[in-house]
Amino acid sequence: MDINLLTVESARVAVQERQVTATALAQQFYAKIEKEDSRIHAYLTLSKDRALAQATRIDALADKGDPLPPLGGVPLAIKDVMVTHGIRTTAGSKILENFVPLYDCTAVARLEAAGAVLLGKTNCDEFAMGSSNENSAYGPVHNPRDLSRVPGGSSGGSAAAVAAGTAVAALGSDTGGSVRQPASFCGVVGLMPTYGRVSRYGLIAFASSLDHIGPLTKTVTDAAILLRIIAGRDPMDPTSADVPVPDYGTQIEQPVRGLKLGIPKEYFAEGLEKEVRTAVEAAIQKLALCGCEILPISLPHTQYAIPTYYLVATAEASSNLARYDGVRYGYRAPDSRTLAEMYRRTRDQAFGAEVKRRIMLGTYALSAGYYDAYYLKAQRVRTLLTRDFEQAFAKVDAIVTPTSPTAAFKLGEKADDPLAMYLADIYTVVADLVGIPGISVPCGETSTGLPIGLQILTKHFDEATLIRVARAYEHARSTADPADSAGK
Ligand code: GLN
Repeated sequence: MDINLLTVESARVAVQERQVTATALAQQFYAKIEKEDSRIHAYLTLSKDRALAQATRIDALADKGDPLPPLGGVPLAIKDVMVTHGIRTTAGSKILENFVPLYDCTAVARLEAAGAVLLGKTNCDEFAMGSSNENSAYGPVHNPRDLSRVPGGSSGGSAAAVAAGTAVAALGSDTGGSVRQPASFCGVVGLMPTYGRVSRYGLIAFASSLDHIGPLTKTVTDAAILLRIIAGRDPMDPTSADVPVPDYGTQIEQPVRGLKLGIPKEYFAEGLEKEVRTAVEAAIQKLALCGCEILPISLPHTQYAIPTYYLVATAEASSNLARYDGVRYGYRAPDSRTLAEMYRRTRDQAFGAEVKRRIMLGTYALSAGYYDAYYLKAQRVRTLLTRDFEQAFAKVDAIVTPTSPTAAFKLGEKADDPLAMYLADIYTVVADLVGIPGISVPCGETSTGLPIGLQILTKHFDEATLIRVARAYEHARSTADPADSAGK
């Protein structure tokens, strides 16, 4: 069995039918990680004891011939911003270098309850702040498709693990694009659900009005399977929505004929790389051939999305990160003479440059006298962005855009230019600000073989349509040009 080709579905079937035991499968993944991850650096911590204990439980079930739960024996990876009981959780930061949580994030607990085998925790930008994974305190992740390039961020470790085949699928978090953009850079599927669809209990907070947990997978079907398991109301997270979770699997192959797809002109303007544009336009043509109606639309406030996002996100981050004070968790600077000095030195020594930049920006935006001019103004623009989408969704069922204006860039290329880095999020931040779901699916490659992603957006809680359109495209692409999509 080639473990590189395993999907969530095929891995479970292989374990159920005893082509492989869950234990042997987990061991094969650890052997592959051992062999290959030193080049990629997708993992920060491996959770072998926990994985093998779970695999033993699954094997006992399968040996008895009992039907396995939907993720029975499936090896998964978790971005290191989700807390895991007894397993070090760093958020990519030195300040949590030795932090071992006392409980599990709900999304992780739900995966494990569904039979998943958790291989380990993946590398990420510090506190999920970044677009390239270069802000991790533990060193960058390398894109498995070209090791000199970034995997995207901030869920770069999760995307790279799936792309490299060192996990069957993974969880990431998306505050401004961190599931979709690394998916696009690494050639995998990344789904950000509606705000509130998935509990954030146990997700280390970055910007609370924007944070989402979502799956990174090889196929759209796998993303649908994982979403169904992690979605739904959680009493531990009052912001989780009490909205029924449909069985996405039963709707996924329904024809898309007659669906209206909006193409926003603002997403095809200056800054979009030519090869990305060509691939995305070809993908839209494929969807037209599936019977979708293609309509030009406008989202007129798009140009304000980046400044709005970077005000809201930094303001909320500055407040959320106040808890890292050297008292309650993680690192504490030694040899301080006063409490205030201990706070200062702890935060100075253990936060990285990008995190400090954001705390300063956010604190400034929230300070007396500036609040109205910055945070409040940004929230007002957010309302205008939401109206753009309400108006668009009155006319169309889904919106289709590039995920990122470029393919994966070189390590170091934007590391010293925060503004250029922020602009890389131009097509993804809006969905987080508005709270609607989005998915990135692979839609081609540059001439140098770098993956390109197609982004699809739908209305709040309409992940079913999102998944259907994404699956229709994935299917059309693989049948029209099997060579192009094989294994990518
Ligand atoms: N790249 C964006 C940022 O740096 C988004 C990060 C995210 O989604 N976690 O804030």
